[in-house]
Amino acid sequence: MNIKRNYNYLLSDLGSLKGVGIKTTNLLKKKKINSIFDLLWKLPKSYTDRSLSSKIKDLKIGETQTVTIIPQKYFFPRIRNLPNRVFCKDETGEIECVFFNSYEGYVKKILPIGKEVTINGKIKYFRNKYQLTNPSYISENSSIIKQKHNKYSLTEGISEKVYNKIISKIINDMPKIEEWHSKGILQKFGNISWNDSIKKLHRPENIGKFKENFYQRLAYDEIFSTFLVNSEIRKKIKKFKKTRKKFDTKKQNEIISKLDFSLTGDQNKTLDEINKDLCSDNKMFRLLQGDVGSGKTIVSLLAALNTINSGFQAAVMAPTEILARQHFLLAKKIFPKYIKIELLSGKSHYQDKKNILEKLLNMQTHIIFGTHALFQKKVKFKKLGLIIIDEQHKFGVNQRKKLSDKAGRDCDILLMTATPIPRTLTMTIYGDMDLSIIREKPNIRKPIKTYSKIENKIDDVIKFVKKEMKLGNQVFWVCPLIEESKKIDHTSAINKSKYLEKLFPKEVFLLHGKTNIDEKEIILNKFLKNEFKILVSTTIIEVGIDFPNANVIVIENANKFGLSQLHQLRGRVGRGNKASSCILMFKSNLSDNAKKRINVLKDSNDGFKISEEDMKLRGFGDILGFKQSGIKSFKLADPIHNHDLFILAEKEIKRIENEKEDISKFKPLIKLYDRADIINDIA
Ligand code: ADP
Ligand code: MG
Repeated sequence: MNIKRNYNYLLSDLGSLKGVGIKTTNLLKKKKINSIFDLLWKLPKSYTDRSLSSKIKDLKIGETQTVTIIPQKYFFPRIRNLPNRVFCKDETGEIECVFFNSYEGYVKKILPIGKEVTINGKIKYFRNKYQLTNPSYISENSSIIKQKHNKYSLTEGISEKVYNKIISKIINDMPKIEEWHSKGILQKFGNISWNDSIKKLHRPENIGKFKENFYQRLAYDEIFSTFLVNSEIRKKIKKFKKTRKKFDTKKQNEIISKLDFSLTGDQNKTLDEINKDLCSDNKMFRLLQGDVGSGKTIVSLLAALNTINSGFQAAVMAPTEILARQHFLLAKKIFPKYIKIELLSGKSHYQDKKNILEKLLNMQTHIIFGTHALFQKKVKFKKLGLIIIDEQHKFGVNQRKKLSDKAGRDCDILLMTATPIPRTLTMTIYGDMDLSIIREKPNIRKPIKTYSKIENKIDDVIKFVKKEMKLGNQVFWVCPLIEESKKIDHTSAINKSKYLEKLFPKEVFLLHGKTNIDEKEIILNKFLKNEFKILVSTTIIEVGIDFPNANVIVIENANKFGLSQLHQLRGRVGRGNKASSCILMFKSNLSDNAKKRINVLKDSNDGFKISEEDMKLRGFGDILGFKQSGIKSFKLADPIHNHDLFILAEKEIKRIENEKEDISKFKPLIKLYDRADIINDIA
């Protein structure tokens, strides 16, 4: 019966598992468990210790227990729907086994009169007798059953018994997978093989043994495979040769000298990195990462300028029209007249749009700004040399790869994100790109003061707001986002705006998820022009927009947000040269943990540092923008606890890249672990 199997067996559909019915398979598929490999990650949460068996007199009512008994007498009622019963005993007492929906033959077979049998199940006490309904794990051989059995978090409709059966079958049938790691790496994990690691992973006594070799090795496999896929994508992109961009930085420097600020060290550094890429014959695929307000826009616009000065066109894509317009206006302001700039807006008239598109095709337009509408097929360029995408943290690796494939041969790509995340995450999520980081913030900024307030002290807050408004300043008032209940959200923002409107007539506007896009833009533009003072909203306003005149942000129910998110929200203020405040409101007195979190925010304005802390306090998946990004999450690896494994994987990837090692031996690893299925054609 020995079918020769390789790792493909693990990737095969659940249907190919012998002895598992369609019903079970469908239930699993509903839980996104499609392949045999997927089932391997269905890990036991705890186990039932069936080795502890009891005598009848010691049975505990209400608990699941194991007992060895001798069946004495059957009661098979004539009337349908009444259960079959078997009277049993041991030397200490009596128990009745009850079978619903069963055949006489079945009952007789598993509980033969006069033979010693071991059974397991939940013990009840009924009419002065112990009772056990539909006993499980019935065995004549008591040693089989007196063991530990894994408990899985059950998929509805699949019993623990079935789970245990399926998983032990898979583990028994597992093909021997050839080792993919180098000797040096393996040694770090006590030379344990993948197969043995998986077996250990499913052993009940190993639950929670995160430090052991088997666990570490499997966690490393996950990290390493992700990094390897990233590395391959990067290599592939680099392989394409493009026309070098040639430009004189004099023009760039002229513009810099006319700005009303000087660039920070990090702005200069990242601009150099980008310029080098533009001048190289490798295609640029770079991420510019920098906290809110760190000044990414100017860096990217200067890169666009250099691209144009080397005879190419540039496209700048923003997530919203208002942001696209803000970038457009800035470019108009700082670039010399000979650079032709256009904004492709959803609201432009048909004829205007047509003109813009024509000019793009004739090279009469050099830079175009817009939303993702720039992606449309009808938008054609004469000589596109650079795509800049702002605030793109919702792009997954798949979408990025598509983007890079789609961009023309000579087109460089610069993505920008305002989501500072811990390094381990950056390596995981953006490992396919080169990275430029702006850590330093413009030093003209006055620090944002962060306060916490209990909700019933709202009068203090109102007083404070009133004072700021008198000075001509504007206020953001954010009501919480509660994922489960958009409705509550919505009403809380509405109620709050009504409340504030009474206090500050004509000064309050409201934005929430149901406000339509046009209206939203009108309101935001009014706010930009300082036509009203308080903007009440849910979290829908993107962080990228500059509202230099807003210097107070009140965040209600602040404990509903993660630290990174609070930091991002706070970043909406402090963009101008005024001192700014962020007021975090809470429903009741803060717990110690909540105080700790708030102190992180009060003490630091460094998004990178805050995100590290956030991750430590809340874990991997909760970092801002991460959940929605569609990026796979690891099953075992954890960026906090396995930090060393991330570093190890990064080193190993560098070694493989440097030594140009043949990666075909990693094919099974990639096939098994690359759930995104990006790489079909490597190895
Ligand atoms: P982000 O990185 O969040 O996109 P922006 O590029 O929008 O940040 O910049 C935020 C604000 O800081 C803008 O008003 C911009 O003019 C200003 N700014 C950018 N660089 C500097 C600098 N070096 N010194 C002072 N202000 C700067
Ligand atoms: Mg920005």
